[in-house]
Amino acid sequence: MGPDRRVPETASVWGALERLLLPAACLVCRRPIPEHEADEPVCSGCRFRMRPVAPPWCERCGQPRPLFGACRICADWPDAFRRCRSAVWLEQGARDAVHALKYEGVRRVAGGLARRMAELLPLPGRAAVLIPVPLAKHREQARGYNQSQVLATALGTLWNVRVETEVLTRSRETATQTALTPEARRANVAGAFRVRSGEHPALVIVDDVFTTGATLAECARALAASGARDVTAVTFGRASLPDFT
Ligand SMILES: [Zn+2]
Ligand SMILES: [Zn+2]
Repeated sequence: MGPDRRVPETASVWGALERLLLPAACLVCRRPIPEHEADEPVCSGCRFRMRPVAPPWCERCGQPRPLFGACRICADWPDAFRRCRSAVWLEQGARDAVHALKYEGVRRVAGGLARRMAELLPLPGRAAVLIPVPLAKHREQARGYNQSQVLATALGTLWNVRVETEVLTRSRETATQTALTPEARRANVAGAFRVRSGEHPALVIVDDVFTTGATLAECARALAASGARDVTAVTFGRASLPDFT
């Protein structure tokens, strides 16, 4: 065997050794994760720096109260949509963690995010059902999974509540919401979801990020139209909306 064939072999052995010997890096700050936190993809320092969404807020949607007048975020939500809470502001480390879950295939980050979400709502009863916000089919196929479903599964394990992926589905594709105003977001998702009718226990919608709440409100609207009367929602991140409020 000539040396030219040995090089890649040696390199792959080194790669394996490196993975074995060097501690994993935090996916936010890239520093090595201490051994006692070895199962965490985000180090404790970075987790600590994620800024919780905290009161004073609108009791219903969890958005900081406006300086004047009533909350505009949840004014047109259906009556059945009772409450929504988000764990942390979508900035710096939290944004990186969501990005890793959504675009880098780091599904194991979901456990840590779900732990932050689990404290936000009273423990749902055993009959409650978690409903992940469904992705458009081609997006889920391209990604290989639905990040909201991965979060819901992690949360369901913590809460001991079952996850239902067939109750709420997309009835049509929607454009990416990122660059849209609140009004455009609402129009974009109007009628985008279909509900399989059936029993209606307490439903908890799960999503990765709350931006204007348009997607969650539309999910709740579809669920309410099929008879649901007790809908809440929980997300990991909440985008601050300086331009929209
Ligand atoms: Zn870190
Ligand atoms: Zn509100």
